Amino acid sequence: MNKNDSERISTVVESLGYASVLTQDEADLIIVNTCSIRQSAEDRVYGQANKWEDLKTKNPKLVVAVTGCMPGRDRDGAMREKLPVVDLFFPIKDLPRFPKWLSEINPELVNSGSEEEDYFKITPKYTDSRQAFVTIMSGCNNYCTFCVVPYARGFEKSKCVADVISEVRALADHGYIEVTLLGQNVNTYRPSDRESFSKDNPFKDPFAALLWEINQIEGISRIHFTSPNPQDMTDEVIVALGLPNQLNILHLPVQAGSNRILKKMNRRYTRERYFEIIDKVRNVRPEIALATDIIVGFSSETEEDFMETVDLYKKVSFDISYTAMYSPRTGTVAAKAWEDDVPKEEKKRRWNYLQNLMENIVLEKNKSYIGKEVSVLAEKFENGMLFGKSRELKLVRFPGDSKEVGNIIPVTVSEAFEWVLNGERSS
Ligand code: SF4
Repeated sequence: MNKNDSERISTVVESLGYASVLTQDEADLIIVNTCSIRQSAEDRVYGQANKWEDLKTKNPKLVVAVTGCMPGRDRDGAMREKLPVVDLFFPIKDLPRFPKWLSEINPELVNSGSEEEDYFKITPKYTDSRQAFVTIMSGCNNYCTFCVVPYARGFEKSKCVADVISEVRALADHGYIEVTLLGQNVNTYRPSDRESFSKDNPFKDPFAALLWEINQIEGISRIHFTSPNPQDMTDEVIVALGLPNQLNILHLPVQAGSNRILKKMNRRYTRERYFEIIDKVRNVRPEIALATDIIVGFSSETEEDFMETVDLYKKVSFDISYTAMYSPRTGTVAAKAWEDDVPKEEKKRRWNYLQNLMENIVLEKNKSYIGKEVSVLAEKFENGMLFGKSRELKLVRFPGDSKEVGNIIPVTVSEAFEWVLNGERSS
């Protein structure tokens, strides 16, 4: 999402007559797109303040703006106060107003540029020629007790069906073949123009219906989305996972395997419900790769709770987990209400335990690809080798030619490691 937001920021500043430079030292305008998911990400922003002071001494025209998640969650102004060097501090949803604010600082800074009223209407400056992120909704209404997103991004807002479809069609017209639909809670897509769905669209659930529409767009052969919430995983969305152009992967954050912890996190599903969803998904796509997010060491998480997460992990047999050690985030319910009482060392031990488990499981799963053919979108060429992702989003490495970057190539897997499959182009 942040990458896609940065692509939008590029569109806006280029429309104002700016061009990019390679280092901060050369810039007349610095826009920092921040992440608030962990404290360390915010600390990196504070760590830059002295550098910006120095740059402003050398270049008094320099404007520093901070956007992304930090400004949205700075309800009491404490963050803003710690960054007096910053000229503009605005949540990303207010990006359309940036040109106006910049011209208020100094009218000479803005050559031209048109003001879009809606963040969703700003077309990102895509950074790849074959793969694109398409934000379909932003914000979250769920208030998981550990999470800053609802504070940082505000309530859920969905982009119109007609606008999503025209964005994806335009991408297809320009040769794009893969789209990743983005949203903090992507499967609660609730557009205001449901009448824009085709008459023969078989789905009632708007997110499933959108997947169907995008599956009809010629040229787009790889469709993926992130991140859905298990509590909103309807049967129709599960059926839509079987549509022909969907990639063969589902990233479904579980966060914990203990019902007590899930409840405390305000995740509105149980481990039993999660298993039920996975069973249904595997009925639709038996070979699907599964990814998840897990937090270890949440407030009051006992060894027993943790072992339930381990048990869930083994039963589901995920391909990958993005595991985080819990750290309280200011402003959240968890930070206000409960102690961060799992010692750091213990969090680290649980994290390592899951990492080892993940590596053992994924290695076994990857070995099952040996001798099979995977369909790879070549993304990069280095030292005689092409690198790309299969439809399961597994990294695949095989001999090739730099001219083939951007092509879809069938590859027969000959060797499997935890994070890469080696192979040869299929004959
Ligand atoms: Fe955060 Fe996701 Fe929970 Fe929303 S659903 S509060 S984005 S963890």
